[in-house]
Amino acid sequence: MENDILLELSLIVGQNQVITDPVQQHAYLRDWRGRYKGQALAVVKPQTTDQIVKLVRLCQLNSISIIPQGGNTSLCGGATPLDQSFPSQIIVNFSLMNKILAIDIENNSITVEAGCTLSQIIKYAEKHKRYFPLSIASEGSCQIGGNIATNAGGIHVIKYGMVRDMVLGLEIVLPDGRIINQLNCLRKNNSYLDLKQIFIGSEGTLGIISKAVLKLYPVPLGYVTGLISVKNISQAIELLNILSVHFSVCAFEIIGQTMQQIYNAKFTANQIPLSDAWVILFELQTPDLDNAIELISKIGLDTQQLIINDNLTLRNKLWQIRENLPVAEKMYGVAVKHDISLPISRIEEFILLNQKNIKKSYPEAQIIIFGHLGDGNLHYNVQLAAQAETVSQENNINQIVYTDVLSLGGSISAEHGIGQLKLSWYKDSSDLNSYNLAGQIKQLLDPNNLFNPNKIF
Ligand SMILES: Cc1cc2nc3c(=O)[nH]c(=O)nc-3n(C[C@H](O)[C@H](O)[C@H](O)COP(=O)(O)OP(=O)(O)OC[C@H]3O[C@@H](n4cnc5c(N)ncnc54)[C@H](O)[C@@H]3O)c2cc1C
Repeated sequence: MENDILLELSLIVGQNQVITDPVQQHAYLRDWRGRYKGQALAVVKPQTTDQIVKLVRLCQLNSISIIPQGGNTSLCGGATPLDQSFPSQIIVNFSLMNKILAIDIENNSITVEAGCTLSQIIKYAEKHKRYFPLSIASEGSCQIGGNIATNAGGIHVIKYGMVRDMVLGLEIVLPDGRIINQLNCLRKNNSYLDLKQIFIGSEGTLGIISKAVLKLYPVPLGYVTGLISVKNISQAIELLNILSVHFSVCAFEIIGQTMQQIYNAKFTANQIPLSDAWVILFELQTPDLDNAIELISKIGLDTQQLIINDNLTLRNKLWQIRENLPVAEKMYGVAVKHDISLPISRIEEFILLNQKNIKKSYPEAQIIIFGHLGDGNLHYNVQLAAQAETVSQENNINQIVYTDVLSLGGSISAEHGIGQLKLSWYKDSSDLNSYNLAGQIKQLLDPNNLFNPNKIF
């Protein structure tokens, strides 16, 4: 039976695109953090939508689960297959569907296959004097199909929104093999329901994204990049609000003091040049450095705490620091990680409340914070003195953090998604009717639960 399936898979995509060798499969079976490991009958690499349709139909006939996989950079185990207790599953990996199909300069849009990497799209747009603004540290590996399936965020959400805001059209293969063709490149299209929205952020549970039409934007005329240290978050928010009136703010990132210390200890060659309770890294899309300096000096902040420039070398150095924060944090050891969002007006309240609650149970705990303050999104990591204790206390720490997040109107997943990591928390944090409606949509589209099972639901 297994051999018959493997033969049929080979007939659809070609023998070389069906990986069964355990050594070659290794990287596809684990997640980026090394937290999850699964197994699969095969890793299969289609090259066309037609091949995806055939794969899906074959899997339906034989009750085989499909794990859609892009660049496998999910931070919540979303693209990792399940373990040996789920024997009938294949990984469908899109790395060979990596063609840019068209660019429409006047319409400012680009049509791509799902397996194009994010950096491939950014560079292609640049070559045509256009700008694609999605910016995440995994851009060299993650694929646009994965970005859309997770509704990725990143550092430019404050100006350009999440991926959802950058998608004009999609082609989707449903679990029964039907193709939904919404590959239009229109900015306005009010013909009843905008069905593609259901698939954006659906984490491979409702269909396979095979192609996409994306918005392109004008290349910014210049950047002013700044680093400023502040005593509290209210000061940072005040700065953000003033800057936003006068400039196009495209990034507003925060680095907490413990994170500053951890980073500086690991990356001695490119230290964070300021220090205080909080350091803010911000970027304005403007060629007018003098105007930016003048405005900030009028706010009355101590300018010794400010580094600001339009110099490319400095810009690269500062953004390198930001990119290496998750790396430094990972090197520092195991932490219970949270990707949370709150109304920006309640961030400070949350941090004070939650620090108090965490310290009540774990007086020695370190809370390591960085993230996208401009979007109300914190990467909020709790680490106990001993690794074994951090691991054993994960559920309790989650309970303390998520209870406070939810009590202040926040979300347990700002941008990384639910995957396997937050499965039980998705239910507990959802309004029951919303949770049930999402389940009904899943049941309607995938009644046999073959698309990325045991993720989200
Ligand atoms: C260093 C680092 C930094 C990161 N920074 C950010 C950040 O700033 N913001 C952010 O949002 N995320 C970030 N991430 C998380 C991750 O890169 C994003 O979630 C990304 O969008 C995933 O893309 P991928 O191609 O790797 O998808 P995968 O990890 O392969 O898959 C993710 C999910 O999408 C599904 N999927 C993949 N391709 C398809 C498809 N074609 N059709 C249907 N479903 C599909 C999978 O089944 C899975 O559920 C970061 C990750 C790393 C490692």
